[in-house]
Amino acid sequence: MISTHRRTTFLACIVLLQALAACGDKRLTEYQLSGPTMGTHFTVAIAAELKFDKENLRIQIHAALDDVNRRMSTYLADSELTQFNHSRSTDWIPVTPELCGTVNSSLALGILTGGAFDITVGKLVNLWGFGPDGSRNEPPADADIAAAKLMTGHEKLHVDCDRPAMRKDHADLHIDLSAYAKGLAADDIAALLDKEGFANYLVEIGGDLRARGHNADNVKWRVAIEQPDEAGGAVARIIHISDRSVATSGDYRNFFESEDQRYSHTIDPRTGRPVTHNMASVTVLADSAAYADALATALMVIGPEDGLAFADKEGIAAYFLLREDNGITERMSPHFRLLTDR
Ligand code: ADP
Ligand code: MG
Repeated sequence: MISTHRRTTFLACIVLLQALAACGDKRLTEYQLSGPTMGTHFTVAIAAELKFDKENLRIQIHAALDDVNRRMSTYLADSELTQFNHSRSTDWIPVTPELCGTVNSSLALGILTGGAFDITVGKLVNLWGFGPDGSRNEPPADADIAAAKLMTGHEKLHVDCDRPAMRKDHADLHIDLSAYAKGLAADDIAALLDKEGFANYLVEIGGDLRARGHNADNVKWRVAIEQPDEAGGAVARIIHISDRSVATSGDYRNFFESEDQRYSHTIDPRTGRPVTHNMASVTVLADSAAYADALATALMVIGPEDGLAFADKEGIAAYFLLREDNGITERMSPHFRLLTDR
């Protein structure tokens, strides 16, 4: 039996904006802006004392989102990244300093995570039906996986940000920045809000968040980590954050099932296949949303035991939800415990 469960949006965290105990003296009002982006939604919550030009801010937020998409989307046919991916040239191709910098830091994250985070997985992501080429309901043939794997690997992508330019060894190598882009966009919006003088805000894009200051009740922003099930809505744990980012990767929003096996959108670059362990989701806390976003995907590849050891060694705050015989169980790295203990 084959069944498909998909959603274009994957809200891995639910933002709870209800009030906690009020404790400050400044009278703040919460303003919200939201809209569609990147196949999902964004919400910006701002706690401010004074009224501001919300429409002007909305225009600037959309401009920042458009900017990330125009450079890094694999879903826009004319984005800078799509043009690089579709180029048949294996010579140096001039790129914007922004794309070059993003690819460069993605490659560094690839090295840090022992290749678990690998932006050259584009061909495999497409082959498995999780990319711009459309979806599928059953695994691809082994020969096709082996062929796509040949077009994958950091060492086949070269970056020179002094020029700035990038070069691929195979014309068919495809870069995929999807595991990074929501976080990057959240960071860009945070930078815009900083520039505009806002000190208290929560930016959320498809479940990836970046927080600064506190909410309108003068307490830390309250964020719920979702139970990993398709229906959504159930809460696994509530955390309180200020001046920090949170991202969750999961296997329960974007996957297909074939012969009782779940195939989710996180690809293990070593096997060329979706990950197979029992980790349903992992949530990472970090300074930047981009870093949290990428690390969550990396830990999803590394798996529960090695992932916990890696998080411990690198001082990463990570929270794992595992599917076990008796239901969902949680594990957390020492840093996660430290940062979420209030
Ligand atoms: P999640 O919220 O589950 O992390 P993301 O959209 O942030 O989802 O990241 C998943 C996407 O990342 C996939 O759809 C695919 O495009 C890409 N991807 C899959 N495997 C990897 C990998 N090993 N390294 C980097 N990117 C990956
Ligand atoms: Mg991610």
